[in-house]
Amino acid sequence: MPPAESVVPPSVSEPPVEAPRAAAPVIVLGVDLRSGPRYPTGLAVMDAATRRLRALAVVLTDDDIDAAVERWHPALVAIDAPLALPEGRDCADPACDCARFGILRQVDRACIAAGYHPFPTLLPSMVGLTLRGIALLARLQSRGIATVEVYPGMAQDILGIPRKRADLAGLERGLRRAGVRGLPRARRLTHDELDAATCALVAALHLDGATEAMGPGIPVPLVFPARPPRAVTAAR
Ligand SMILES: [Zn+2]
Repeated sequence: MPPAESVVPPSVSEPPVEAPRAAAPVIVLGVDLRSGPRYPTGLAVMDAATRRLRALAVVLTDDDIDAAVERWHPALVAIDAPLALPEGRDCADPACDCARFGILRQVDRACIAAGYHPFPTLLPSMVGLTLRGIALLARLQSRGIATVEVYPGMAQDILGIPRKRADLAGLERGLRRAGVRGLPRARRLTHDELDAATCALVAALHLDGATEAMGPGIPVPLVFPARPPRAVTAAR
């Protein structure tokens, strides 16, 4: 594993205030995290203001993910994975005494109550993903990088975009319609990449104040695109 020094030169005396310069684009990073390095994790790097993708790829290892963070310095990272254990749980061991607190977080219950179907945080098939998500959040927080959790299927439903399982091409078209620019046209995109792009879009919306949050927001909020008001009657 390459040491961090090879990516970022050691700085001896950083100025307290950044020198004025041409405004650098604000970058957000969407991560469609998978349970481990055997599976493709989607990464989408987006210019938040223009919604233009600067990079879209699948990676495997934690080092790959960390390298992308080092390279792009995202202002916000949006991750498709549970980023906490259920309230009351101190581990994921089903034989531990803490298992009496169950496998659902409060935010899972809030999603279910709202009609969505998240996989329970500590469902046996989810444990690896949840623990990897918690570890990634810890690394991001140690670098002071703001992070939110995103549930791409829920975001796609709210944006009126077909989900990947229904229609991959429709998901790609829907993302373009929703304002995502720079999706590569020369190759077939994977659902991992398209879900990562969805996460990046929600991150950009979040910076614009165009999202809502669900659940208690501990340790970071689960955010989704703001839903249009139900009443369409003009109120004057
Ligand atoms: Zn425990």
